[in-house]
Amino acid sequence: MIERPLHTARLIHQEWLSEPNQTKHLVFAIEDMPQFNFTAGQFLSLVAPKEGKTITRAYSLASAPRKNEFDLCLNRVQDGFFSNLLCDMKEGDAVRFHGPHGAFVLRNPLRDSLLIATGTGIAPIRGFVQWLFADDSNHGGRQIWLVYGTRHEGSIYYRDYFDLIAHDYPNFHYIATLSRPSEGWSEGRGYVQEHARKIIEARPESERGEMDAYVCGLNKMVSATRKMLKEELGWDRKQIVFERYD
Ligand SMILES: Cc1cc2nc3c(=O)[nH]c(=O)nc-3n(C[C@H](O)[C@H](O)[C@H](O)COP(=O)(O)OP(=O)(O)OC[C@H]3O[C@@H](n4cnc5c(N)ncnc54)[C@H](O)[C@@H]3O)c2cc1C
Repeated sequence: MIERPLHTARLIHQEWLSEPNQTKHLVFAIEDMPQFNFTAGQFLSLVAPKEGKTITRAYSLASAPRKNEFDLCLNRVQDGFFSNLLCDMKEGDAVRFHGPHGAFVLRNPLRDSLLIATGTGIAPIRGFVQWLFADDSNHGGRQIWLVYGTRHEGSIYYRDYFDLIAHDYPNFHYIATLSRPSEGWSEGRGYVQEHARKIIEARPESERGEMDAYVCGLNKMVSATRKMLKEELGWDRKQIVFERYD
């Protein structure tokens, strides 16, 4: 068995992103580490004991590197062990982890990019956007579209932040699409892949092969999106970077 060094992270701030869905934004500070280096989009493996065993679950880093701190965005899964443990943490409580891990990271060189997420799949995408727009040389003027899908208006996580970036940067485009909108909802409706398709089809044909998609969420959405991009739009699989949560 590979022995991985374990670190301790202490919860320093938490807030509900959506109470009906029980989704939380958590901010941790790592003990005995002045700077935590990772690449935006990666995940941590959190560990905790349960009945004499060690339980490990992956959680995407929902922030770009920031001193010894990191953010998580997580959903309480009914009867789930780790998500309930995290959702019930109090400020000052600690959790152990190893990492960073994973290859869900932005390509270098960056091309025009479609960021597609549903639910807490927004976590690594928030990390991407924070990193991209922290310095103009990171996004390099590339066109970046974020298509975010969820059920209700009340579960559009981090909307104010993405709206602000879209306001400040003409090359960042943000579309929130709802599968169960209220009557007053005048923005996107339906599945994320339909919006992604429209964005791609609006581009000149010569530019469609010159872009990448980054897709994160539950397997059903990730598979449907990859299928659409490959089979209907003829994309190469190398143009699609994805992370599945289940
Ligand atoms: C690379 C990676 C990154 C991830 N990042 C995040 C993240 O940023 N935020 C986040 O909230 N989750 C994330 N997940 C999912 C997370 O790892 C756990 O699977 C989830 O929190 C459930 O764990 P649990 O111990 O609470 O539930 P468990 O005790 O493992 O499962 C309880 C029940 O819930 C079902 N279930 C398991 N996972 C899910 C799920 N995601 N949605 C609905 N039902 C589920 C199981 O089938 C089971 O029936 C990520 C997963 C991967 C692989």
